This record gives sequence, structure tokens and C-alpha cells, in this order.
Amino acid sequence: MNLEVKKKEFEWYLRDYFFKENKDKCDQDLIKDFKKDEVPPSLIKTYLRYRNSDPNEIRDLLNIVTSNMQKNNIIIENDEIISIYSNLDRKQCVQCYYINYLFKNEPLQCSKCNSKDLREFPPKKLSKENNKLS
Ligand SMILES: [Zn+2]
Repeated sequence: MNLEVKKKEFEWYLRDYFFKENKDKCDQDLIKDFKKDEVPPSLIKTYLRYRNSDPNEIRDLLNIVTSNMQKNNIIIENDEIISIYSNLDRKQCVQCYYINYLFKNEPLQCSKCNSKDLREFPPKKLSKENNKLS
């Protein structure tokens, strides 16, 4: 697997991680600051994909990906603390079905096929029956 693919894959897992850490939390309770040295062990623990990975390799990937994210103004990195501006929205691409995790200040665009046709994932169920009853 080449480095470009590895980086892209790693970024997906990192976004998934930020998303899950903040799932079900309201805005005020969001974890916005992540200690950078705690991220690689958490990723290795959380994701089967990285279960047998070398922590040093994860750390290297994290450094590359977070410095890119910082350049794109998605995160701030300071004194080994990764700060995120907002939680992420999970959106599925209508064209290629890829699941995207997007920060609120990022353009709505699929990172796999560049389509702008994204929808909430999982789709919100609008139950008319329940609305009638309540
Ligand atoms: Zn797509």
C-alpha cells in the first residue's frame, strides 16, 4: 500500500475517531482538545485495522495527517494538543456511497469522487405515524 493511500485511509479513521468520541454529546460538552500522544494508542485499541500496527508508524501517519489538516484550517495543533473547531457530520455520498466525515467549516464534497451530492448518514427516519400520535 503506498503512502498516499495509507494517509487517506488513516485520515478517515482519525475523523471517525473524533466523531465517535463526541457522539451523543451536545455542543457544550464536545471534546475539542485531544492529547496527541494519547491518539495512537486509542486508535490501535479502537480499530481492528490498526490492532497490529507499529505505534511509531501510527505516530508518523498522525503527524503527516494533522499537519495537513492544520494547513487546511480544520484543526489547530499546539503543544502536542490537537484542537478541533467542531464535531463532524457524517455524510454519505449519493454517487459512490462513500462515508465522509466533515467538519462544519469544510465544503460539502465527497473526498473520494468529489461529488457535492451528500446526504445525512444514517438517513434520518421521518416517521409520520409517530408524529400523528404525539
Ligand atoms: Zn463520492
